[in-house]
Amino acid sequence: MPRVLLLATTTGYQTRAFADAAERLGVDLVYATDRCNVLEDPWSDQAIAIRFFDEHGAIASIAEQSHKTPIDGVLAVGDRPTVIASRVLEALGLPGNPPAAAAAARNKLTTRERLREAGLPVPTFLPASVGDDARELAQSVTFPVVVKPLTLSGSRGVMRADDPSELVAAFYRLRGLFQAPDIRAERSDADARVLVEGFIEGREFAIEGVLDHGTLQLLAIFDKPDPLNGPFFEETIYVTPSSVSPEEQAAIAGNVARAAQALGLRHGPIHAECRVQSAGGDRVRVFVLEVAARPIGGLCARALRFQSREEPGPLISLEELLLRHALGESAGQWQREAAASGVMMIPIPRRGVLRRVAGIDEARQVRGVDDVRITAKSDQVLVPLPEGASYLGFIFAHAPEPGEVVRALRVAHQHLEFAIDPEVPVLQSHYV
Ligand code: ADP
Ligand code: CA
Repeated sequence: MPRVLLLATTTGYQTRAFADAAERLGVDLVYATDRCNVLEDPWSDQAIAIRFFDEHGAIASIAEQSHKTPIDGVLAVGDRPTVIASRVLEALGLPGNPPAAAAAARNKLTTRERLREAGLPVPTFLPASVGDDARELAQSVTFPVVVKPLTLSGSRGVMRADDPSELVAAFYRLRGLFQAPDIRAERSDADARVLVEGFIEGREFAIEGVLDHGTLQLLAIFDKPDPLNGPFFEETIYVTPSSVSPEEQAAIAGNVARAAQALGLRHGPIHAECRVQSAGGDRVRVFVLEVAARPIGGLCARALRFQSREEPGPLISLEELLLRHALGESAGQWQREAAASGVMMIPIPRRGVLRRVAGIDEARQVRGVDDVRITAKSDQVLVPLPEGASYLGFIFAHAPEPGEVVRALRVAHQHLEFAIDPEVPVLQSHYV
């Protein structure tokens, strides 16, 4: 049985989806997760416990394990383990990304520098520290700007500021965010660093692909039909195929491939994001925001299914495609199914304690809706962006046309009602 090592930030839906795909394929999965997160690990007996901040130790533990039971492929899910994954691949002599490329892709400042060197469109950008005097900094930027931590993901800590006082407020808020226990636990030098960059007007797209020895195989371009203008940048709907012209799609794919190359990425899954402006006539300007050396996160991959170009057969999941690729198969024989497909990441309407979710059955019955999954637990404290790091859940839909998918997702979402109680301040318990 071929064996694939899965490096995961936490064990959850995504690792479970890989486990299912591995079982179907007859692949043995070995997990390596951060020891911080193994408490809820259903596979704790089999997982290699590592510390993501200790790269040398992590690679030594994995190498030791691979001497006992050889590893044939490696995949990372989540941003955090992508560099370790590249080092493990290098140590095992398997094709992957150069570790420096994986590290560059994880760092928003290095990404901007590499893209600029390659002549790709980038906004103006200024590295800073959350401790800096934002009022002074405000004198050297042109508003509006976007402030973002260098190494977080999922729009966490990303804020728009339209004037100096908003920049001061954003820095203040980021100082608080950097005190969050899960961020402190990562112990990364880049944690207190931020980037202040020019706000890029335009429509936004997400790209899923696989790099195959330096060549990008595009799997999907997702439109993001809800405007993302700030002050925070909560993801909601992803729908594919894209409704923009084939020329525009080619421009998007072209710049994502150039950006991946500029970063030095060569082999393995990528998830990229870009903002696109019209540049007069039919021409567009594609700003690549980032290229992550990992697949799309959370449950979103369930919006993607693939069929063989060569022989008709059952649709396969993104996880199955990626396991096959990790074991040396080309991704080229797979294409996304013909139907349009989409997912809504259900936004958190306000901070508070989730009590109940009503309307799930009604939402599921909406024509085109495949599933509604509420992933937040009842009695869980919901934290919206920019501090939060999770969604309420996901709605999946498919239909012949992307417009119908978007409609189905919106109608389903309207059926959902969230009972959220205000949080009881912790201090109060001292007085009762
Ligand atoms: P993360 O890695 O946390 O997802 P991103 O850099 O991708 O951080 O930013 C998250 C979102 O914030 C983007 O998807 C986009 O909507 C918005 N955003 C980030 N940078 C800019 C920018 N310079 N101009 C306009 N919007 C931006
Ligand atoms: Ca992003």
